[in-house]
Amino acid sequence: MIDKNGLKLTTITDRIGDEDSARKLYESIRWPEGPVCPHCGEINNAGQLQARPDSKKPVRKGVWKCYGCREQFSVTVGTVFEDSHIPLHRWLLTAYLLCASKKGMSSHQIHRMTGISYKTVWFMTHRLALPDRKSRTAFRQEKQRSRQSRNILKKTGASTGKK
Ligand SMILES: [Zn+2]
Repeated sequence: MIDKNGLKLTTITDRIGDEDSARKLYESIRWPEGPVCPHCGEINNAGQLQARPDSKKPVRKGVWKCYGCREQFSVTVGTVFEDSHIPLHRWLLTAYLLCASKKGMSSHQIHRMTGISYKTVWFMTHRLALPDRKSRTAFRQEKQRSRQSRNILKKTGASTGKK
């Protein structure tokens, strides 16, 4: 379903109208060879958790059980989508828009295009750009350090030079 030209916007909009289909799409992207257990690394040796016929409790959707280590997991474990209340299809749409445009896309523009609240878009784009942000922070700190050392030089210069 993903051709060599990459993911298309229609693939996204046709296939991720709801959480269920968004999860299935993301599973097929992240796990092309079948589910990968994040606990023991076994590939395609897990089954989707099913509710027992006599059980009244609904089973959480998208939960897999590894036959190797018996642990449970879902496709978002270890990704930026983990531990958030934002539905996965909104994450995928935002991630798509961020990556689709060569120059990137501002949170404001994504907010206008999708109707998702600006605050939520801002949160998502910052999480999605985490590696970039880390390098930006490192860059800022570097700049700060060089400014500080320049200031120290200025101060020592002032105290010795003038009088
Ligand atoms: Zn396992």
